[in-house]
Amino acid sequence: MSKKDSKPHSSFSPRYYHAPPPRFINFEGIMRFVKLLKTVIGSFPPKKLVLEKAIEWAVDLQLAHGIDVVSDGEQRADMIGYFSSLPGLGTRPTGLHVKSRVEPFSDTRSFMKFHDLRFVTDYLTSRGRDDVKVKVSITGPVTLGFACACNGVSHYSGVRDMRLYSDFASALKPLVEQVAKTGCYVQVDEPSLSIRVMESSKAVKIVNETLRGVPASVCNEGKLIVHVCGPLTPPLFADLMNLDAPILSLAFSAPSVLKNVEAVSNQVLETHGKMLGIGCVSVQASKKQDVEPFDSVVQRLKTIVDKVGRDRIAFLHPDCGLRGTGEDALEPILETVASSARYLCRTF
Ligand SMILES: [Zn+2]
Repeated sequence: MSKKDSKPHSSFSPRYYHAPPPRFINFEGIMRFVKLLKTVIGSFPPKKLVLEKAIEWAVDLQLAHGIDVVSDGEQRADMIGYFSSLPGLGTRPTGLHVKSRVEPFSDTRSFMKFHDLRFVTDYLTSRGRDDVKVKVSITGPVTLGFACACNGVSHYSGVRDMRLYSDFASALKPLVEQVAKTGCYVQVDEPSLSIRVMESSKAVKIVNETLRGVPASVCNEGKLIVHVCGPLTPPLFADLMNLDAPILSLAFSAPSVLKNVEAVSNQVLETHGKMLGIGCVSVQASKKQDVEPFDSVVQRLKTIVDKVGRDRIAFLHPDCGLRGTGEDALEPILETVASSARYLCRTF
């Protein structure tokens, strides 16, 4: 074992104690750019078509329901599988695992999502829909690190080794920066922040390492989002305010997150200059009849607007990705997002 390897692994990387304070987010600036936008979290059920046709199918569905910021539908893999070629990761029948030190791609542009991003923008142009914006989701370092390490970990001392997450943050940072350079919306997906893989204040510092290279101008245009689904508490919500992104995308609609509305507050959002993406419809539906009726969605939206204020809502979207949702339920869910946006614009 080398001298370097013999160091204790469990300590939190000292450089995080000197992490810079969160960037000042210019809320008035964001408000100039951000009107209420409809979007999706990212994934759609894998469609049994050749890749390009599957992406076109996902984009067409979004366009048909007036989604303003579309995704490629994540037709190649799930949110973990996209990173199979990241240096340091290996593949097992049970999924990706950590086989050596995790490092950035040698050529960021070789990441599969950039190929699909070009395909989506070309497809939108071919359909005369250059007005539609595109969002690229990058799985965050806590979620990706934890998922891979649970499947097996070498080089690090285990799933609690903070060096693991620090290395994932460094490996993902150039990808996030590259998306930001394209002018697209960039969303870092961190569902694990609500399942307490580690203390939320530490998790926030790790995620901020990934976000650090995004220019302030991208933040001020409201194009940087962190998605955290799952149950919230007021202390967790307060910690999430230290994320170095102007917009947090949260879930409010599945049975397990119905109480999230109690954890959010206008005062906390105002203090930190943040806006929200609202998960206004559950993705837990296998068929049309499972999708929540619009009337109960409206009741929930009223409560959320009362709690956070209309001007703090940047996006409406389904609670989470649609990968596990029944194909039959997709259109009713997207239509509910569209009707919710019409309702908010008409009423508030
Ligand atoms: Zn989610």
